[in-house]
Amino acid sequence: MARGSIGASDKLRHFRVSAERPAATAIDIAARAIKSGGLVAFPTETVYGLGADAWSESAVDKIFRAKGRPATDPLIAHLADVAQLADLARDVPDSALELCRRFWPGALTLVLLKSARVPANLTAGLDTVALRMPDHAVAAALIEAAGIPIAAPSANRFSRPSPTTAQHVLDDLADDIDVLLDAGPTTIGLESTIISLVDDPPQLLRPGGVPLEALRRLIPDLRFEPRFLHDAEAAPAPGTLLKHYSPRAKLLLFQGADDAAVFAAMRAEIGGDRRVGLMLSDADAAAFADLDVEIERLGANAEQAALRLFAAMRALDRAGVDLILALAPEERGLGLAIRDRLLRAAEGSVIDV
Ligand code: AMP
Ligand code: MG
Repeated sequence: MARGSIGASDKLRHFRVSAERPAATAIDIAARAIKSGGLVAFPTETVYGLGADAWSESAVDKIFRAKGRPATDPLIAHLADVAQLADLARDVPDSALELCRRFWPGALTLVLLKSARVPANLTAGLDTVALRMPDHAVAAALIEAAGIPIAAPSANRFSRPSPTTAQHVLDDLADDIDVLLDAGPTTIGLESTIISLVDDPPQLLRPGGVPLEALRRLIPDLRFEPRFLHDAEAAPAPGTLLKHYSPRAKLLLFQGADDAAVFAAMRAEIGGDRRVGLMLSDADAAAFADLDVEIERLGANAEQAALRLFAAMRALDRAGVDLILALAPEERGLGLAIRDRLLRAAEGSVIDV
């Protein structure tokens, strides 16, 4: 269904389901929508996905149109069973199966050589395909009931912060989806980690829910070279687009060894006519309690910050701030993925204090 078509929102069926034991009726209706070429938004442990039949070129095309996503940005196909790997990928190395055993279901996406059956638009014309088995009972039940792999990027409009609640999905895509399975907030809050096993040595393409350290225990030579590109056409790997996961407001990202100096640099940006919002850990927020600014608290640790990051960006946009100030976390554990998302929102630059 085309974006904004008249009466489109009337067709949306919104089901609230248990995150652990979703009702079979809701799952069946959603699975039928997928099988008949429709769009279903569903929760995973990372973020909400916008799902369609991965075997159907026309259903996959609906995803690109609904999101306003460039055709050069490939999608991830979601599986309910490792056995489905053989349908979508060819020449699967042993290392892939080992990673599946250790990390699936979970927030790890593997890029492998694609099988001939995979439609070209799913992979943006590449000879490789990205695959993941989500660790969420609703996602698993849906894929299982549909009986086919489900292509699903994050259920947000292109370049907006990813959706971690059903409300975020409705805010972006209410007119475009046939079914919404609403199981409350997601449990990780950041997208999956993507690694390419087509490259030798294997390469981490996007940091995410599974930390780099955990992967290096299995693949010691896993390469990671952060790339932030301004131009989709120039991207050597898809999805390295710079302006991504972004709030509407301009975001300034700070870092420095001396907290007091960093806080002073941030304070210098506050004042005048601009409405300023802050995204800070609970501890750091205390240093700004005297100011008349919007503060989104990211909690006490990286896990909490991951869960709240995208919701905080959306909340500050809703509050109408012109400028968002944030602190770059350390590059370990989930901090690496949080930093990556903040850097993209800040269009690639960090202010070193
Ligand atoms: P999203 O589903 O919105 O989290 O985005 C999926 C991302 O997966 C894309 O933006 C790419 O970064 C990545 N991806 C999907 N397929 C491939 C592929 N064949 N090669 C490299 N990266 C891929
Ligand atoms: Mg996305």
